[in-house]
Amino acid sequence: MGNDHVTRFAPSPTGPLHLGHAFSALTVWERARIAGGTALLRIEDIDRQRATRDWEALIFEDLWWLGLSWPEPVLRQSDRLAAYGAALRALAGRGVLYPCACSRGDIRAALSAPQEGAPLSGPDGPVYPGTCRGRSMAEAGPGDAIRLDMGRAVRLAGEVSFIENGPLRQGLHVACDDFLIDEVGDVVLARRGMGTSYHLSVVVDDAFQKVSEVVRGVDLLEATPIHRILQ
Ligand code: GLU
Repeated sequence: MGNDHVTRFAPSPTGPLHLGHAFSALTVWERARIAGGTALLRIEDIDRQRATRDWEALIFEDLWWLGLSWPEPVLRQSDRLAAYGAALRALAGRGVLYPCACSRGDIRAALSAPQEGAPLSGPDGPVYPGTCRGRSMAEAGPGDAIRLDMGRAVRLAGEVSFIENGPLRQGLHVACDDFLIDEVGDVVLARRGMGTSYHLSVVVDDAFQKVSEVVRGVDLLEATPIHRILQ
């Protein structure tokens, strides 16, 4: 039995694993071994258009081939929609969500209008120009995405920080309010027709599974402040 150290490998079954995944998985199991903790496998299959059981079966095969094993049952995000719905309701109750009807085209058009000094793109893609901010959750319809009002979330959350312990850099990251508001912006927490998003599901499940250390690619480093503010 391990101690309180829990980490996870959380691939999306939308294609074959690549070398980066293999490196990531081996790192997860190595971190757990060093800490005497537990390495979990989690299947991040919220994208019902792209995730398939065939790709999932290949993930299991590749990980077995790498000599890795994990506690069963494996958590699948597609089984967790009720938990994501509950988290959205809790966030809505704190007044930090709003429904958004903008299409990608609307957002591009709003962003291409001249706005001096406004960043066009941040770590989570184009920074949402805020067109629907101010709409209330009471008027949310099935065609709406749900966004986090980052300004309000920042005021509620206080300091957002995390410790990076990677091969490139080690140390404390503190995400300043201006960065979160101006360069990350009002991220989508529930996509249309999906009821959740990468950011929301990861945060809810890391808490549920008591994950104490996240191992992920540097490409997702910038997602970590978003997850910390949601936590
Ligand atoms: N599911 C994500 C991926 O396949 C990784 C999850 C995470 O580390 O947050 O890239």
